[in-house]
Amino acid sequence: SKWECRENIQKGLLIVISGPSGAGKGTVCKALLKEVPKLKLSISTTTRKPRPREIDGINYNFIEKEEFKEMVQRNAFLEYAMVYNNYYGTPKDKVMNELQMGKDVILEIDIQGALKVKSEFPEGVFIFVMPPSMEELKNRITKRGTETKEELTKRFQASYEEINYVSKYNYIVINDEIDDAVEKIKSILIAEKCRVDRL
Ligand code: 5GP
Repeated sequence: SKWECRENIQKGLLIVISGPSGAGKGTVCKALLKEVPKLKLSISTTTRKPRPREIDGINYNFIEKEEFKEMVQRNAFLEYAMVYNNYYGTPKDKVMNELQMGKDVILEIDIQGALKVKSEFPEGVFIFVMPPSMEELKNRITKRGTETKEELTKRFQASYEEINYVSKYNYIVINDEIDDAVEKIKSILIAEKCRVDRL
């Protein structure tokens, strides 16, 4: 039979796509999944209220705070964090099962969460998505239009500070044109599967 790189090895890659709020990581992930449908996107659990057009079980699993606390207690999360007054967590079992079945799993999470995952899974692929400029970051944060003025200022300040964490990641992808960002991530994943030091 033919030789192949990682494709035939049991465990999938754990891919963490993270970066400051307003970097457009959600948009990048969506476009990436459209192009590479075999990737599994982990659906996070959150105590945030759904926005219009968000669907429970698709965008997030929306739950109450009590239930979230209960999941934390029984160690159901791979990582969890509070982001702008709401809790977000990555359900552990689902991710572990998919990796075990050889599927590549994407986590689209904030920086605190990414650092926690890295401490437990240093073999993961950590990708930092950056906005092309501070102006563009401001535009994107403002354009979402779901937050108050104080909220926006807080988010912008936080995003600015978060950029310092780029050094903890394996890759940086500047998200100027969405198609270019997706192309770069696809290349990163191909390269990761060819790495000799992973086999
Ligand atoms: P939003 O409320 O706009 O959907 O997401 C707010 C932030 O929470 C984003 O930066 C998003 O990446 C992050 N986030 C979403 N799910 C998770 C998760 O499971 N864990 C962590 N740590 N952050 C998450």
